[in-house]
Amino acid sequence: MRICSKSDGIGRQTKEVACPICTVHLQVQVPSSGSETIECGVCQHPFLVSSH
Ligand SMILES: [Zn+2]
Repeated sequence: MRICSKSDGIGRQTKEVACPICTVHLQVQVPSSGSETIECGVCQHPFLVSSH
């Protein structure tokens, strides 16, 4: 299955996630394994994004 994501070659990938607060969709970069805390650009709410 192909999904619309790309790798920049250093173990991170771009992923589209929805903010749990305002549900806006954001393009974020997450590590290929693990998770990353990002901040929503609309409501400024930080939330955790998992690579899985
Ligand atoms: Zn938000």
